[in-house]
Amino acid sequence: MDAIVKNFPAVPATDGRPSQKEAEDAVRVLLRWAGDDPAREGLLDTPARVAKAYKELFSGYDLAAEDVLGRTFEEVGGFDDMVLVRNLDFYSHCEHHMVPIIGKAHVAYLPDGKVLGLSKIARVVDIFGRRLQTQETMTAQIAKAIDDTLQPRGVAVMIEAEHMCMAMRGVQKQGSTTLTTTFTGVFKTEPAEQARFMTMLRGFK
Ligand SMILES: [Zn+2]
Repeated sequence: MDAIVKNFPAVPATDGRPSQKEAEDAVRVLLRWAGDDPAREGLLDTPARVAKAYKELFSGYDLAAEDVLGRTFEEVGGFDDMVLVRNLDFYSHCEHHMVPIIGKAHVAYLPDGKVLGLSKIARVVDIFGRRLQTQETMTAQIAKAIDDTLQPRGVAVMIEAEHMCMAMRGVQKQGSTTLTTTFTGVFKTEPAEQARFMTMLRGFK
């Protein structure tokens, strides 16, 4: 897991980014490459719109998980059982074809005296989703970010997603879902805790 995460630093370098104009010119090249005419009326504003959309779709590069999770957490007297947040919708893009990955993330942890605000988990999923990704890397990054900052007894992350690059091109397998999991701490060392995570996930569907 560490090897995967190392290749994707929390905040990738932002120096030397091209200008807005360079980005728009690149879109014009791709439009011509696809066979269309960037000078026709319907496409005149498209490069600017695409550049703007990319700013939003890839805004995860400008944020670090630590910024969202913070360094201070709520103390919870006595509560030490599993916290599970299910069905966090996300939209990402595969790093191989830059087409959408659409899915749901399920995130659980076993607190060690401290808990996270629930909305923070959703925001961490968004930060990593709004980058070019593989599903495996994204799963590991979410688990590591929570593990590193909160230091709970264990973290479990499951992602189920559909890859548009499989549905729209190549093998064209619509509706197939890819499942990935990452377990840390007691979720990794104790099969019973892992099983309980799976049961809780299924139990409320
Ligand atoms: Zn792909």
